[in-house]
Amino acid sequence: MTNEPMAERSLLLEEMTWPEVRRALADGWDTVVVAVGAVEQHGPHLPLLVDAARGDRLAREVAQRLGRALVAPTIRIGCSEHHMDFPGTISLRPATLEAVCADYATSLARHGFRAVCFVPSHGGNFAPLAEMLDRLRAAAGPECDVRAYTDLVGFVAIWERAVAEAAPELKERVGGHADIAESSELLCIRPDLVRRERAEPGYVGGFNPELAQRIFRQGFQAVTPNGVLGDPRGMSREIGDRCIAATAEGMAAALRDPRRPAQ
Ligand SMILES: [Zn+2]
Repeated sequence: MTNEPMAERSLLLEEMTWPEVRRALADGWDTVVVAVGAVEQHGPHLPLLVDAARGDRLAREVAQRLGRALVAPTIRIGCSEHHMDFPGTISLRPATLEAVCADYATSLARHGFRAVCFVPSHGGNFAPLAEMLDRLRAAAGPECDVRAYTDLVGFVAIWERAVAEAAPELKERVGGHADIAESSELLCIRPDLVRRERAEPGYVGGFNPELAQRIFRQGFQAVTPNGVLGDPRGMSREIGDRCIAATAEGMAAALRDPRRPAQ
């Protein structure tokens, strides 16, 4: 084992050896961030893996901002029943997702991690995470605090502010799904998978709690036949960088342990 400080090592639990994990815990690296993504339709221009790939990045960015935090493997499939009208989408029932999240939390708690933070990178996972949170806490036990970011409308509002800062004239194109914000993020993460020439607007009436309710009740296709909420045209890496940083900052602020100062 080297004396290399943790900050210079990978934050990814999967890339560590068990002695490195033991050492990290002994050094106070006792928080784990877990992204909860999806494999689901993202309009005609983005691949199905958007939320899984964004989850990988988001978890890393949140962990860096929390400090002394590792990153567990992204839960790549989420609750996407409302996208099932589109070919290729794979969906977990909420009970399945809860079982997976509970097993993550209890495994990590057994090793001595003191906090497990779930960060949804897919809109359909926010409500299930909020609903299961008390049971996850009970499963993990009193030594390990389970937290989750569950404010979907707040999350989209962060995207709106980030796009307004980067490109004020394109602010209206934020809609919450495969829009300018999310498409720009994927340009930063997997540019090889963005079909820019297929980018077209979807439902552009804006994101709000009423629209979210309608989507979860009736399915995406009832609101947007091409699967897009917002408009991806004008996407750029600059907008994507801003959106990634702003959402990570917003989530880290909500998940930070108030007893531990920011690092
Ligand atoms: Zn998405």
